[in-house]
Amino acid sequence: MGTGRNYALDKNFDPAAEEPKWREYWREHDIYHFDPLDKSRKTYSIDTPPPYPSGDFHVGNALNWCYIDFVARYKRMKGFNVHFPQGWDCHGLPTEVRVEQTFKIRKNDLPPEQFVEMCRKLTGEYIAKMKQSMNLLGISSDWALEYKTMDPSYYKLTQLSFIELFKSGHLYRGEHPVNWCPRDETAIAEAEVVYQERKGTLHYMRFGHANEHIEIASTRPELLSACVGIAVHPKDEKYKLVVGKTIAVPIFGQQARVISDDEVDPRYGTGAVMICTFGDKTDVRWQAKYHLPVIKALTENGRLSVDDPRFKGLKAEEARRKIVAELQASGLLTKTEPITQNIGTCWRCQTPVEIIARPQWFMKTRDLTQKVVEWAGKLDWIPSFSKQRLIDWAESLDWDWVVSRQRIFATPIPVWYCTKCESTIIPNEESLPVDPRKDKSPGEECPRCGNRELRGETDVLDTWMDSSITAAVHAGWPNKSELFNRLFPADLQPNGLDIVRTWDYYLLVRSLALFGRPPYKTLLINGMVKGTDGRMMHKSYGNYVVADEAIKKVGADALRQWAAAGGSTGYDIPFRWNELEHGKKFLTKLWNVTRFVLANTTEPLRLKKPSTLSLIDRWLLASLQELIQKVSEAFETFQFNTALEAIRNFTWHALADDYLEAVKHRLQTGRELSDLTATQYCLREAVLTICKLLAPICPHISEAVYQQFPSEATKSVHLESWPEHEKALDDTSIRNGRFLLDLIAHARREKSSKGLSLGSNIKRIIVSTEAEHLHLLKENEETILRTLKADYMDLERLPLNSNQVGESSAGFVVEIIAK
Ligand SMILES: [Zn+2]
Ligand SMILES: [Zn+2]
Repeated sequence: MGTGRNYALDKNFDPAAEEPKWREYWREHDIYHFDPLDKSRKTYSIDTPPPYPSGDFHVGNALNWCYIDFVARYKRMKGFNVHFPQGWDCHGLPTEVRVEQTFKIRKNDLPPEQFVEMCRKLTGEYIAKMKQSMNLLGISSDWALEYKTMDPSYYKLTQLSFIELFKSGHLYRGEHPVNWCPRDETAIAEAEVVYQERKGTLHYMRFGHANEHIEIASTRPELLSACVGIAVHPKDEKYKLVVGKTIAVPIFGQQARVISDDEVDPRYGTGAVMICTFGDKTDVRWQAKYHLPVIKALTENGRLSVDDPRFKGLKAEEARRKIVAELQASGLLTKTEPITQNIGTCWRCQTPVEIIARPQWFMKTRDLTQKVVEWAGKLDWIPSFSKQRLIDWAESLDWDWVVSRQRIFATPIPVWYCTKCESTIIPNEESLPVDPRKDKSPGEECPRCGNRELRGETDVLDTWMDSSITAAVHAGWPNKSELFNRLFPADLQPNGLDIVRTWDYYLLVRSLALFGRPPYKTLLINGMVKGTDGRMMHKSYGNYVVADEAIKKVGADALRQWAAAGGSTGYDIPFRWNELEHGKKFLTKLWNVTRFVLANTTEPLRLKKPSTLSLIDRWLLASLQELIQKVSEAFETFQFNTALEAIRNFTWHALADDYLEAVKHRLQTGRELSDLTATQYCLREAVLTICKLLAPICPHISEAVYQQFPSEATKSVHLESWPEHEKALDDTSIRNGRFLLDLIAHARREKSSKGLSLGSNIKRIIVSTEAEHLHLLKENEETILRTLKADYMDLERLPLNSNQVGESSAGFVVEIIAK
């Protein structure tokens, strides 16, 4: 790395000029490179989240990536060979929907290849944008390890994992009801259903005939055509006599059997509810439990599928209006009332989710629930409460994970079917990747029945099937070499609280099925970011800030400080511009302190520790040791706010306010050389140590300052070793130095309260204190006199139990006598 690069510090700190320079320096020197051959250092592997390439990198993303980068940089300095890849989770609905919106088309308007190509192109553009934002933020990922889930080299591994799970019996195909988005025309997983409060209408409808009828209230009269049963509570006296009978459904006329079940809430509506296939999850349970018939209510695009020309093909809402009008006209609608409902909607397009049964692929996730819960309990969770999120989620799942999707831009499901016996035919692993939508089947004929007509699967995989093997893919799977064992399980799994139930869950469940062990060791969970208005940051709220905008205003290091200081790890944090300004102010302070130190440094090389040091010097060095200890502990436990606050406090107060003020006089010309070297030594030690401790959080300024102090082997501060603190802290120096500095600070306040400027000379300072401190003050008389510009100091011993000491918690009383 050489010593040549020594930039002088400009008079004013300007992140816009400074930061790009250092990013270029890091890039040139390739300093974040993971070396797979280097076994002398322990590896530290990070399963970085692969974001959806949406083009947006907002301050919420910045928070997530800052946490990752703090750890990566810290671990590198701690001597680890850090594996910090960055990938992109390309497939799935978001991009398809964007393509549909951008080009005003629907997925089926074009041949699939053409549609996929448009998605790939758009994805590429978004990736470029987000990559630029990550770089602006100073994220130290190793771009040599970049991957995209849409690349054949990646999705062939998704397909391989599918085949392995199919062979081991963890996957099956079946016709079970699943959550369905009628707008996107695809199955979606339970994790993709978002519950929203919406207003609806409860319709009271009369079922049956004039002589025998019951009233049923429902918000979804459009499902009448698929009503296959009626449920009442077993203890509901009103309905005792009708249980077991069949009753005619209005308008459509089919007979529905009345069953009694404990799950019915007798207080809802009339206490009798209709069972439709399928209105909700309860309908799914009852249909199976009571062996009721299945009438398909809706088509895959959310239209009524009933064979009745009045309603067939109508969208659910239109059908509802028309059926309600019909009921009203026939006198079968007895009343309506408004109701607030909690409706499941598609996470992507907010369309109310339907439940539709058609053949799908499932992973047997429920079988793994107990293992998931067991392992979740054994892993390290930061913060620990996030663990419960995963456990509660896993235990709440009552359906298996539907892994097939009826979309286009995704990993093809690598199977063919025999058109005669419906056997599933899988390709050889060597032939992956495959696309059964266009590729020829692996064999000529069905191995079971010899039929020569084979049909390729047209469904594709849930995008979480791609991203739930990242940890293994980073480690080089399916090659289970020595490197695999070094990188898997990942040491760190860092992500937002919002994807614990998706990404963390799917990774865990898949890894347990594929490898019999979890894919990660420690989960570092970040909270969400609240906008300046106090609400969660969201595009539609207008409180959304993109990272680039913040960086442009205050610089990356200031934004990174906000991420570190905004709150405890795992908790939601507010976005506040003044917090970013505060960060920038701190950097300016550090910049100015450095400039002062440089201006008072006679020769550029680093100095050796002088053999004798004054109390104030020993105090600074001991406090620095204490700081190292505090910051190291904070990084070890991922408490970035604690680390940053300690560094900022030390720089601002201990170094700039206390030490610098107390030693300024020593730097003046004509002073003793030993004093000068001691001061210079201590100042450099402080500045260089601050740089190292601050490097994970503020990489740019740390580098800029560090490079001002060249030595024989100057390299990037990010390649330096993390400072180690001495085992035993010099508590005596910390205590005595503090006493001395407090006394000086107090005397300065006294001076100004007497209307004297800090620079003015005074005649005398009288200090009264307890006997134990007298010696200490005598020894440091020169420092006291010079700092306060006093001619004499008188020391007085305070009597024990003196009132005066009682008044001063600091243990001294100071009097200033002006000239
Ligand atoms: Zn949708
Ligand atoms: Zn066959």
